[in-house]
Formats: sequence, structure tokens, C-alpha cells
Amino acid sequence: MIIIDLLCDQGHRFEGWFASGEAFRDQSQRHLVLCPHCQTSSVSQLPSAPHLKRGASELAPSASTQSVAPEPALARLHEALASMARKAENVGTAFPEEARRIHYDEAPARSIRGIATVDETRELLEEGIAVLPAPVPPDDELH
Ligand SMILES: [Zn+2]
Repeated sequence: MIIIDLLCDQGHRFEGWFASGEAFRDQSQRHLVLCPHCQTSSVSQLPSAPHLKRGASELAPSASTQSVAPEPALARLHEALASMARKAENVGTAFPEEARRIHYDEAPARSIRGIATVDETRELLEEGIAVLPAPVPPDDELH
């Protein structure tokens, strides 16, 4: 996705979003590029070079973006969560009850992990208790 600075024959300056410079020229030739202010199709490209829109690749995946490595931030987040899970006390199926007790100061504040059904997780979230649905740990950790 690129943004092209455009100028209509009435002197209105605006930006147009196009898949490519080729797409702009094609749409322009077919008078599909209209000024948002006066609707004229007499629109020309300003001399400034088209620039890439940051983050637009997420909206319009193309061959050129598929080889991009995964976000490093995502990997760090994953590692942080894994580390949190290892330190957390495993309370198993008592998780929803224990999370509530901690939230309402009936149990010492600490990191816990365990098992909650989708419904239980939703109830906790609705009560304002921060829980993080995560993949179920291996069976041998649950007993
Ligand atoms: Zn105009």
C-alpha cells in the first residue's frame, strides 16, 4: 500500500491510497481517482515520491511482506509469559476460586495458574479479575 500526494485542477491537495503506483496510473486513466473536495477526476500526482505507509503491510499482505521475520516483541512477550507461568503456583482446577480469593483479598496475592473453563474465564473477566487464557500445560503438570 502506498500513499500518493495528489492535486486536482481546482488546487485541492489530498492523499490517495493505492496498492501500487501502477494501480494509481490505471485508476487515474479511467477517471476513478476523484478529488474528495470537488469530485473532479482531473487529478495529478504531486512530484514528491510516493512513500510507504508504515504498518500497512498488515492490512494488505503481499508477496514482498511474507518473508518478514516474526515480530521480536512477540517472541519476547511469549518468553515473558512462559517465565511467568513457570513461577506461578499451579492451583489446578481451583484456579477460578483461587483467582477470586486473591482478587477479593481473601488469599495472599501471588501469581497462580491453573485450569478454568471458557465460562469460568469469562466470569472472572466480567468481575474485573485479570486472567490470561493460555494454552493448557502438559498433562503431567496438572496432577
Ligand atoms: Zn478538488
